[in-house]
Amino acid sequence: MAEVLVYVDHVDGAVRKPTLELLTLARRIGEPVAVHLGPNAEEAAKVLAEHGAVKVLAADAPEFTEYLVAPKVDALQAAYDAVSPAAVLLPSSAEGKEIGARLAVRIGSGIITDAIDLEAGDEGPVATQSVFAASFTTKSRVTKGAPVITVKPNSAAPEAAPAAGTVEQLAVTVADSSKGTKIVSRTPRESTGRPELTEAAIVVSGGRGVNGAENFPVIEALADSLGAAVGASRAAVDAGWYPHTNQVGQTGKSVSPQLYIAAGISGAIQHRAGMQTSKTIVAINKDAEAPIFDLVDYGVVGDLFDVVPALTDEVKSR
Ligand code: FAD
Repeated sequence: MAEVLVYVDHVDGAVRKPTLELLTLARRIGEPVAVHLGPNAEEAAKVLAEHGAVKVLAADAPEFTEYLVAPKVDALQAAYDAVSPAAVLLPSSAEGKEIGARLAVRIGSGIITDAIDLEAGDEGPVATQSVFAASFTTKSRVTKGAPVITVKPNSAAPEAAPAAGTVEQLAVTVADSSKGTKIVSRTPRESTGRPELTEAAIVVSGGRGVNGAENFPVIEALADSLGAAVGASRAAVDAGWYPHTNQVGQTGKSVSPQLYIAAGISGAIQHRAGMQTSKTIVAINKDAEAPIFDLVDYGVVGDLFDVVPALTDEVKSR
């Protein structure tokens, strides 16, 4: 069976959920071989093996943390050369997309970004994307070389599939040309204790209807009762009510959670572009004609300051 490289997204060896989703999708098109760059590969390999990785190619080098992505591309290319895979899968994070694009150029292949599904095809893997602000769903495949595909978080439920997960060290030489951009400092963001927006299973977002930064705790309270991440429309972000890192939409982050709750958001096409692939969409808006109601699974016409706290109380009481 053809091997499929899966780039591992992890924090000090703790594998993040999008990688487990990739392993699940990779098994549809071949045998997953994970590529772990950085420390604690043995620890990561246990989780990767539980989710179907037949092998874990591991490398660690100071350059991975000293420079921007190019040294990691060198390492992924070394894995590619060692395995000659049928496809390379990466998470659709900013880093995943940049590494994927650089690798595709180097191996003379093509890249498909932000896939939401993946299937085997007669002429190679076929990726599904939601495009033009989710107005269309397309299926495409790379016609030259091994396809490089980035997949949006929450596109598949991670499935357990025990495999060997044997760790093999990967010999990596970081090219001088990959040391062009050095990281001079890192400032970790203050933790909110909430899940990462793009990976969260539930997202609660607030828009202009929230009417001020001082009211966002209403949104946060509902999010916390559900263990959700908090999102915001651009109107709320531009007004300075919530950080840009939490903006959902065309010029913000793209999310695909199991449940997306939009409160006081009209549903402009640029907002929809970032959330329309959510599995279940709920909107709370006092205007029954708001365009957001065209795409929801459940809609509540009402004042968010009545509905959201009532919902929070109800969730907490269960
Ligand atoms: P509004 O459109 O003003 O809607 C507010 C809604 O709140 C209304 O429907 C109103 O009925 C409702 N409301 C008011 N008070 C209450 C209440 N008390 N209870 C319940 N409902 C209430 N937007 C994004 O979100 N993300 C993007 O990434 C993005 N990128 C853009 C890129 C470009 C190039 C452009 C041109 C625009 C972009 N926009 C983006 C902006 C987008 O066009 C909209 O202006 C924006 O999404 C509107 O935000 P909103 O829905 O919060 O505000």
